[in-house]
Amino acid sequence: MALVVPPRVPARHVYVHVPFCARRCSYCDFAIAVRRVVPVNEYVDALRKELAVRFGEPAHAGLEPLDTLYLGGGTPSRLGGAGVAAALDAVRDWFPLAPDAEVTIEANPDDVSADAARAWRDAGVNRVSLGSQSFDRDVLRWMHRTHDVEQVGRAVDALRGAGIGNLSLDLIFAVPTALERDWDRDLAHALALAPDHLSLYGLTIEPGTPLGRWHERGTVAEADEDRYADEFLRAHETMGAAGFEHYEVSNFGRPGRRSRHNSSYWRGVPYVGLGPAAHGFDGGVRRWNAAAYAEWVRQLETGCDPVAGQEQLQPADRAAESVYLGLRTTDGLVLEPGEAARVAPWIDQGWATLDGARLRLTAAGWLRLDALAADLTVLRSR
Ligand code: SF4
Repeated sequence: MALVVPPRVPARHVYVHVPFCARRCSYCDFAIAVRRVVPVNEYVDALRKELAVRFGEPAHAGLEPLDTLYLGGGTPSRLGGAGVAAALDAVRDWFPLAPDAEVTIEANPDDVSADAARAWRDAGVNRVSLGSQSFDRDVLRWMHRTHDVEQVGRAVDALRGAGIGNLSLDLIFAVPTALERDWDRDLAHALALAPDHLSLYGLTIEPGTPLGRWHERGTVAEADEDRYADEFLRAHETMGAAGFEHYEVSNFGRPGRRSRHNSSYWRGVPYVGLGPAAHGFDGGVRRWNAAAYAEWVRQLETGCDPVAGQEQLQPADRAAESVYLGLRTTDGLVLEPGEAARVAPWIDQGWATLDGARLRLTAAGWLRLDALAADLTVLRSR
């Protein structure tokens, strides 16, 4: 693709995809690059090239300061202390950060040492999302995770010791029944670490993953719908009782500790995506980069924008997206005239509440998010 430098976008949120992982987790179908030795310099050089190809010379003038900067993956913590600092420096050379910007990196517990935590803090990281996934040793092994249970606690201590106080944990629920995972015990273990935020993801079986192959062979069965719903609702109750707001279908935060970066996606505002497989949105056009790390590097070495595709969102796309995004958070959705009758049965079932014209799904409603969003979208498209 020819080199094109579009006008600067007013996005106040930047996502950087760092694709490296030590190995592939059994359930993961993300765009990753498995590397024993991470090519830190090559990656940061390519990141700088992408910034230059897409946004011209490094400069701060004329750009809104960033409200959030997020290094996701893959496993950004595999860049190490100096690598994370170099990646953040690269972005800052093009996009100034607001003084109170939220700067997050995703980390695997086994990458977090006291030295790395201090280096990340010095580089400006003020929030870390730790991929803990479970506190059951056998479940971690089954997931092909590279860390053990104890390393999560040590990582939390190292991060807090370095002064990074805003910590999020990830947990995966609805794992196969045969694993005999004690979900309540895992939730209690997570709460005992006093995180500020928790993200919960229901296990899905994706083709092409080790889990997908086990499923094809019939050696693993997914959790049934009742178990999925039961664990989701138990998490809602447990986290609520512990003082967390269940503010998005998969996310819980202590008051004032919602993910500002992810909230920008749910508000549908522009953001820049950098790195292999990264998506971006300028308010009208959605674009995505070459997914394979080697292809992303190759495009940049030849001076090309690594874009793999883009689409102009049509009014119907925007309408469907606004319904879906509104319903997935506690911000809810403002109903249009004539829609109240359509959602009255949802309220009767306990799936939603109505506050004036603002409709919000309950936890039971979030279990039906796709179907309810589709129902309202069909109504709005008529
Ligand atoms: S660490 Fe994360 S991105 Fe990497 S393989 Fe595991 S789940 Fe996927």
